[in-house]
Amino acid sequence: MKDIIEGFLKFQSDAYPERAELFKNLAYKQNPSTLFISCSDSRLVPELVTQHEPGELFVIRNAGNIVPSYGPEPGGVSASVEYAVTALQVTDVVICGHSDCGAMTAIAKCKCMDHMPAVGSWLRYADSARVVNEARTHSSERARIAAMVRENVIAQLENIKTHPSVRLAIREGRLALHGWVYDIESGSIDALDGATNTFVSLANHTNVRATPTQLNVAV
Ligand SMILES: [Zn+2]
Repeated sequence: MKDIIEGFLKFQSDAYPERAELFKNLAYKQNPSTLFISCSDSRLVPELVTQHEPGELFVIRNAGNIVPSYGPEPGGVSASVEYAVTALQVTDVVICGHSDCGAMTAIAKCKCMDHMPAVGSWLRYADSARVVNEARTHSSERARIAAMVRENVIAQLENIKTHPSVRLAIREGRLALHGWVYDIESGSIDALDGATNTFVSLANHTNVRATPTQLNVAV
């Protein structure tokens, strides 16, 4: 813990003065453009990967970057999604998985979760991804885990679309969804191209998104 407090003291003496004006402007308001949903994994830092400053990302982090489908008893993730989309009016949602994800590895390897019942229960929200991934053949265990990470991002994008606030915002053409997978070793990101349902290099395809902004659905 000593290093954490030393880090805070360094923030106060070095990093804060550099951004004093920014923090003054943020003191009573925030206007983030993006809801960023990622795994709690210590190796994925949304603000670092996107080079964004305080006030620019509204972040939800949990084991497995999971968004439970909307239901009659919404929890903390649902409340945060609703607040970001309805109150903060974010224009984009990124659901970002990552390589070597412990949660996805546990699912892909069918690890027994009896000693961590809360984790086991939480990961059930990735069941649709698990079932799809299990139905496929994979060239190696590493490939199976990597595919699980991707399938989970796709499944959570489907889950978030069951939230009324998200559905409304998409229908009104003011919200786009993005599905990313971050590779820890290379620092690269693959993004889901909703048009082809494949993951492509974000660096080479900067305009890809998981859903169109405009649905153009006649009602
Ligand atoms: Zn993870």
